[in-house]
Amino acid sequence: MTDEISEALKRYWGYDGFRPLQREAMECVLRGRDSIVVLPTGGGKSLCYQVPALLLPGLTLVVSPLISLMKDQIDALAGCGIPAGRLDSTLSAGEKDRVSRQLGAGGLRLLYVSPERLLSPGFLDFLKGLGVSSVAIDEAHCVSMWGHDFRPEYRRLGILRTAFPEIPIGAYTATATEQVRGDIAVQLGLGEPEVLVGSFDRPNLVYRVRRRTEGVRQVRDVIDRHAGESGIVYCLRRSDVDRLTETLRRQGCRAVAYHAGMSDEERHRSQNGFIGEEADVIVATVAFGMGIDKSNVRYVVHAAMPRSLEHYQQESGRAGRDGLEAECVLLHSGADYLTWKRIILESEPQTVENGLAKLGQMSRYCRGVSCRHRAILAYFGQPAGAEACGACDICLGEVEGVADPVVVAQKILSSVLRQGERFGADYTAGVLYGSREERIVANGHDRLSTHGILKEETRPAVRDWIEQLVEQEYLARVGDYGVLKLTALGRRALAGEERPLLLEAPRARRAPKAAVEKDSWDGVDRALFERLRALRRTLAAEAGVPAYIVFGDATLRDLARKKPATPDELLAVTGIGAKKLELYGPRVLAGIRAHDRDPLPPRPEGGR
Ligand code: ADP
Ligand code: MG
Ligand code: ZN
Repeated sequence: MTDEISEALKRYWGYDGFRPLQREAMECVLRGRDSIVVLPTGGGKSLCYQVPALLLPGLTLVVSPLISLMKDQIDALAGCGIPAGRLDSTLSAGEKDRVSRQLGAGGLRLLYVSPERLLSPGFLDFLKGLGVSSVAIDEAHCVSMWGHDFRPEYRRLGILRTAFPEIPIGAYTATATEQVRGDIAVQLGLGEPEVLVGSFDRPNLVYRVRRRTEGVRQVRDVIDRHAGESGIVYCLRRSDVDRLTETLRRQGCRAVAYHAGMSDEERHRSQNGFIGEEADVIVATVAFGMGIDKSNVRYVVHAAMPRSLEHYQQESGRAGRDGLEAECVLLHSGADYLTWKRIILESEPQTVENGLAKLGQMSRYCRGVSCRHRAILAYFGQPAGAEACGACDICLGEVEGVADPVVVAQKILSSVLRQGERFGADYTAGVLYGSREERIVANGHDRLSTHGILKEETRPAVRDWIEQLVEQEYLARVGDYGVLKLTALGRRALAGEERPLLLEAPRARRAPKAAVEKDSWDGVDRALFERLRALRRTLAAEAGVPAYIVFGDATLRDLARKKPATPDELLAVTGIGAKKLELYGPRVLAGIRAHDRDPLPPRPEGGR
């Protein structure tokens, strides 16, 4: 059976191997066993039910919560030569008739339905007449009130088990908590399901955390590193989204905005522009993301700190679904913490304690000085390997803890105290740095024992450490002028009873390349890659599908690496199966030949 599976994977999808647990999940379905499959975003959950759908005799029924997700998957399947259809409330009568006819003739391998459609009167009886051989519930965490996307209709999907007692049901989700998993089994009435839980590590994501010191400039740095590639920038407020989008556009970026304050139509236009790659950057609140399966998002920037690590993992996880390297940059400041704290304190009383605890963990992650991959895994209760990940700012040596943070913190705290707790952060940094500016001299603070005590540091560095102490609540900023005062915690630190953490400012503006970034470009002819990317845009426009449905980025790179000259050589490229060969083979081969005759000059940063 395994051979059959690998064969289908190669012939239809052009893939040579499995992602972790994919094969096991597929075998469950083929053996007729119920399953709960928990894999991270980009883990390849769709294939877990799509490959068996090809190998089983009848129809595979897929329940999916969002129409955009269904459309995307059906387009992708069509691109692999697999007939699939959907039934939901947005179809016209004519389209519904067409799908019903195809179903009647046994012409579809997979049928996608919304839960509403499934629960509508008579629909289950209609399905029973079609010979359903397996059922997949995608985004299965929607059944659980404990998850982040509870959908009441999902709670009623238990009727599937009653309607199809003999057929395997697979539930697929990226939500890791034990509670949600248990809920899925109970609500769906699964019989002793096989539970497959993958690692939540995303080794292809490079995590970087930076203090937000220059705002837009720092966001631009990331965008510029990924010129012409797709990325998401998350902001905290709608007004931030509007402002940042404006600024980026004025600077010449192809950016669109997305938030819940916009009309449905405006949001659709932004989303489609991003998916269709007319826009490179989508600037959004957390309202954006669910239902986006775009596989080639190369970076996610958080312009402000999210409210929990669950949120961070979800949102940053939208990068690099195709398994290629992608960059996740989180910019944070003490102000974000205070904003969230206020929002949480104003929310439902019974959620406050939990909310503040999660916010605290998020904030500690930002200030942390150990491997980011490990910190995230630890948060989700999974162990990490012992070695440095090679894919985060800490392991790459981009940030460093201050050698003696306790002493540095004590110098700062004691200066605040000696200044009478009546001055702000800039002033305090001036004193510590040894500035002789007029107001410091006039106050006699050039004679304090702390004057110039950090003069061998830079003034911005001192200013930054003060911020870090505020964020860790050793110092409080009070009143309209932001006067610094010691907190109880600060007094304990001064007495040596607490150990603050202080980070050095990142040294290089130009971020070094992580190994995952180098590897996946290994041997790739960049100029040819760009040429093929342009060809992909043309092919996508002609076919009326998003570019990543035509070819994923991994396929483009492999093409520009192997430079196939014949149809057989094309089939050896990842992501090219029989159907893709038929649809696009001749034009791709022509493109590669044209490039051989007349190579375009490589882009300046092209490297090799
Ligand atoms: P999930 O639903 O778990 O987030 P998807 O099913 O959307 O993930 O798959 C993410 C991407 O990974 C898709 O572009 C898919 O084609 C690709 N993919 C899945 N399995 C494999 C594989 N075995 N080899 C290469 N690419 C794969
Ligand atoms: Mg999915
Ligand atoms: Zn690391």
